[in-house]
Amino acid sequence: MATLRFKALSELSFKNFRKENSIEIPQKLSELYCQNVFSEDSMREYLTKEAFQSILDAMKRGIKIPRHIADQVAVAMKDWALSRGVTHYTHWFQPLTGSTAEKHDSFFTPIEGGRAIERFSGNMLIQQEPDASSFPNGGIRNTFEARGYTAWDPTSPAFIMGTTLCIPSVFISYTGETLDYKAPLLRSLHAVDEAATDVMQYFDKNVTKVTPTLGWEQEYFLVDSALYQSRPDLVFTGKTLLGHAPAKGQQLDDHYFGSIPTRVMNFMKDLEVECMKLGIPVTTRHNEVAPNQFELAPMFEEVNVAVDHNSLLMDVMARIAHKHHFHILFHEKPFKGVNGSGKHNNWSMATDTGENLLSPGRNPKKNLQFLTYFITSIKAVYEYADLLRAGIASASNDHRLGANEAPPAIISVFIGSQLYRVLEELEKVKDGKLSPEEKTDLKLNVVGKIPEILLDNTDRNRTSPFAFTGNKFEIRAVGSSANCAEAMTIMNAIAAKQLRDFKIEVDALIASGLKKDEAIFNVLREYIKVSKSIMFEGDGYSDDWAVEAEKRGLNNLKTSPEALARELDDKFVSLYEELGIYTKREIEARNEIKLEKYCSVIAIEARVLCDLARNHIIPAAVTYQNRLIDNVKGLKEIFGENEYHPLAAEQIDLIKNISQRIHQIKNGVDALLEAKSNALEIHPAQRQAEVFCNEVKPLFDTIREAADDLEMMVDDEIWPLTKYRELLFTR
Ligand code: ADP
Ligand code: MG
Repeated sequence: MATLRFKALSELSFKNFRKENSIEIPQKLSELYCQNVFSEDSMREYLTKEAFQSILDAMKRGIKIPRHIADQVAVAMKDWALSRGVTHYTHWFQPLTGSTAEKHDSFFTPIEGGRAIERFSGNMLIQQEPDASSFPNGGIRNTFEARGYTAWDPTSPAFIMGTTLCIPSVFISYTGETLDYKAPLLRSLHAVDEAATDVMQYFDKNVTKVTPTLGWEQEYFLVDSALYQSRPDLVFTGKTLLGHAPAKGQQLDDHYFGSIPTRVMNFMKDLEVECMKLGIPVTTRHNEVAPNQFELAPMFEEVNVAVDHNSLLMDVMARIAHKHHFHILFHEKPFKGVNGSGKHNNWSMATDTGENLLSPGRNPKKNLQFLTYFITSIKAVYEYADLLRAGIASASNDHRLGANEAPPAIISVFIGSQLYRVLEELEKVKDGKLSPEEKTDLKLNVVGKIPEILLDNTDRNRTSPFAFTGNKFEIRAVGSSANCAEAMTIMNAIAAKQLRDFKIEVDALIASGLKKDEAIFNVLREYIKVSKSIMFEGDGYSDDWAVEAEKRGLNNLKTSPEALARELDDKFVSLYEELGIYTKREIEARNEIKLEKYCSVIAIEARVLCDLARNHIIPAAVTYQNRLIDNVKGLKEIFGENEYHPLAAEQIDLIKNISQRIHQIKNGVDALLEAKSNALEIHPAQRQAEVFCNEVKPLFDTIREAADDLEMMVDDEIWPLTKYRELLFTR
């Protein structure tokens, strides 16, 4: 019996045997740090003082790099790269496909006399033209220019992968529309810097720049590559479309923080070495809730670099997993009934004076500053909750949100009881001017009482999609396969908008005669009142919360089409236009891309499921049923018409049950294929996505239910698909 499943299982033990001892671990990881990065240190070594300063100015102040300096930087980068055996360069960018893209060009340039040199100029550094026709553009490029170009982003350092120098870049159409994740992210960073720095003038005039920070936590599954190859659904869709839950699941909770299996440990060590060299400051590794599920988290960094590092890491992980005969799954829900994967995005804002704006301080003045950024962030989430929800919408993340393992689709904010009490006090602050006693009381007994370390936030509410965790907000609803850039762009944009509005309102009150602090208290009080309904401290998984949230007027956008339908609201379009992050056309294009992707994901899953059901499941069921029939016939032959029946009762039942399941699958497949074909004819994309969601997707369940039942009935030896227990417990 050479089904893929058994072939894979036999290969596995062989590989496991070879794997155990194959990894060398360097003495000190720190010595490897940034070895493959054109870091500040390497720049200082390779660049002239003038060029180095110019890069710093670009990184820290967004000042444009003059052309003659770009030439110098190009030569320095090339020299540095050549000294490390590099032969090619590429603009490395993040198109809307969800993965990274690159087009490698050689430094090699033939010159006269049959000789050749390595050449790399400022022009080549600044701009490259990838063959961009296959990247998603939501109709932008069809109607304008056919081509796009990539442009160097000097705020994220170049790095070496293999023998290629990778230059982080943005990807833009010839007419200037953004076609990637990075360009809008950079614009949002600029917007929040401007707004937060403006507000900072109330508290500390030394601050001239505010940079948002991001610490992501990446969850993933590892599956043996031979077993992975034996599951067409994993290969084509990144998730299993069939499979009965294993007898031993995560119920036992013995995986979480349990010991990491040796083969996985080798993978992780290898990965850490690679991360160190690439300057990705990974610090923690541990098991997650589900079997074969793990998490990796770095130290937080500036958002732009952190986003690049996450995208880079996902590439590197896939490569290193391969080396260790694993396949890595970033899908949000690869296994039914098993905890899915997310990517928590911890977000805060840092000043160029070294302060974290979401960290409570040592005195009332610092705390008022903290409260300002804290409360405006909450108000921003209140105003733009649906935008945040839409920003994390995808077909795969839909399986996770609201499934009692990840935050619900209702966006709410958890802040912890200590801060909740402070906000309740602030809400009572009287309108207009305050007496000196009232001011002192407020400063000493409310604002001054915020502890520098917020203890109860370490015991944080795990069910909240948006939680304040002591000195940062943790956005928990982001999917494990998503690019962090989108959630970050939205967070920056909404914070920027709210801070802008805050500044205008406070200035107006100051102009009307209030003192600065009074004005700030007044505006904050109103913000608390308005946004109170989004604050929720209870259990986000409970049914009561859905009811309560509805009463509060909070949306529960359970599916991607529902969430994406809200994305083009005037309020959101104006936000982006006001801040110069997206034009309306860009928002529409992106919305369209997401809807199209949603539909094609479900269409592909439907195809694969039908194929599996027809080519794998039904034949196995029929084979086994025939065996049973032979058995019954044999019993009848031996024991005769009168006596065989009780002896064959079980088998006869099974034969009937199998037929019934086969019938269910056959009907299910017919219905699904028809629904899918019909859906593919529907326009526009929004309507099509709704049909895929409401009419196509539910049909998956009938087929799956019957197939999973059959898995329990059919002889294990002829079952063609690798089972959950093998995928999840084989290490
Ligand atoms: P958890 O229990 O969720 O793992 P941790 O306290 O270990 O929580 O931190 C989670 C993440 O938060 C880490 O990736 C860390 O880098 C990040 N983080 C810490 N401080 C900040 C900050 N100021 N801005 C952004 N991210 C931060
Ligand atoms: Mg976390």
